[in-house]
Amino acid sequence: MSSKIILTGDRPTGRLHIGHYVGSLRNRVAIQNAGDYAKMFVFIADAQALTDNFDNPEKVRQNIIEVALDYLSVGLDPDKVTLFIQSQIPELTELTFYYMNLVTVARLQRNPTVKTEIQMRGFSAEGEEQAFGSGLPVGFFCYPISQAADITAFKATDVPVGEDQKPMIEQSVEIVRAFNRIYGETLVEPKAVLPSNEACLRLPGIDGKAKMSKSLGNCIYLSETAEEMHKKVMSMYTDPLHINLSDPGHIEGNTVFTYLDAFCRDEHFGLFWPEYANLDELKDHYRKGGLGDVKCKKFLEKILNAELEPVRARRKEFEKDIPAVYDILKKGSLAAEEVAAKTLDDVKKAMKIDYFNDADLIREQAARFNM
Ligand code: ATP
Ligand code: MG
Repeated sequence: MSSKIILTGDRPTGRLHIGHYVGSLRNRVAIQNAGDYAKMFVFIADAQALTDNFDNPEKVRQNIIEVALDYLSVGLDPDKVTLFIQSQIPELTELTFYYMNLVTVARLQRNPTVKTEIQMRGFSAEGEEQAFGSGLPVGFFCYPISQAADITAFKATDVPVGEDQKPMIEQSVEIVRAFNRIYGETLVEPKAVLPSNEACLRLPGIDGKAKMSKSLGNCIYLSETAEEMHKKVMSMYTDPLHINLSDPGHIEGNTVFTYLDAFCRDEHFGLFWPEYANLDELKDHYRKGGLGDVKCKKFLEKILNAELEPVRARRKEFEKDIPAVYDILKKGSLAAEEVAAKTLDDVKKAMKIDYFNDADLIREQAARFNM
């Protein structure tokens, strides 16, 4: 049996989109179905979402169920995977506090993902006089440390994530190494599991922007209806130089083709567009000219519908019994806490702060004071 421990999470800042799907969710379901793991944890990162949504707890609270429904509808199975809510595991906060000693401010400032996200959210490191106006909250700044706590609490070995999360895993590895060096071998080094297909590393938004992201409003959501998705696909960014049908087209930076790279398989041509044998043939024709964007978009729409229709149908079923979904999360959170508590015990023992369990310490001191 595999010894892999798999862990990942998503922020409940909105419904999940097809970027999450190709970047991480699809991988998780594949691992689950292949059974190639010892334990698998998937969690809703509400405490992390609060680091930049601290003034909007209602948004976070409402999106817990959305993310849980998305998990279940893509096929994560609560009998095989522990689904839990981050804030319900207090051990994670405690671990974060101890790991803070192992990371410098300069190191966090160098983290490329933190840098981009600070910019995206309009936080300013110098904005302290504006207090919570646009100043950078310490909690947000430290979220890579809390992510290391999430990963190490479960002794995760494999973390399926999109490319933007790579620096976070590197940060976690550094924390693990520092901890083990100072306090003795205790924590397990994780590794990022990235999608093998390049288009999936960081799926762009329908507007062609670098990343499909809830915060940028350029998403196709997993739970979207076929009608909503149709509008979005038809409005997608393509090649601005491809004006007349006969003009040669460009594939690079053309969102429709990036999505085809992420979703299209050869069998889709047999099903929906038998004029071509595979994506390379379609691309060649587009490059030469004479192939319209609308035709390509319609093909993409058919592929997306084929992939998402079963997801939508499963969601409808789970939506009928919301209390049952909360029950799954509650059971998962209780099971997850047991595991995290065990790791926290190990950590406290290694850090020599397990006073009441340390019979030697008490005996030695009793002897010293009564010599
Ligand atoms: P937010 O804007 O609130 O940060 P987000 O859309 O970036 O939301 P996260 O919850 O931060 O979503 O990301 C969850 C997981 O999905 C991470 O592993 C991340 O790498 C992956 N992911 C998110 N967006 C994409 C994308 N466009 N392409 C590939 N993977 C993605
Ligand atoms: Mg994000």
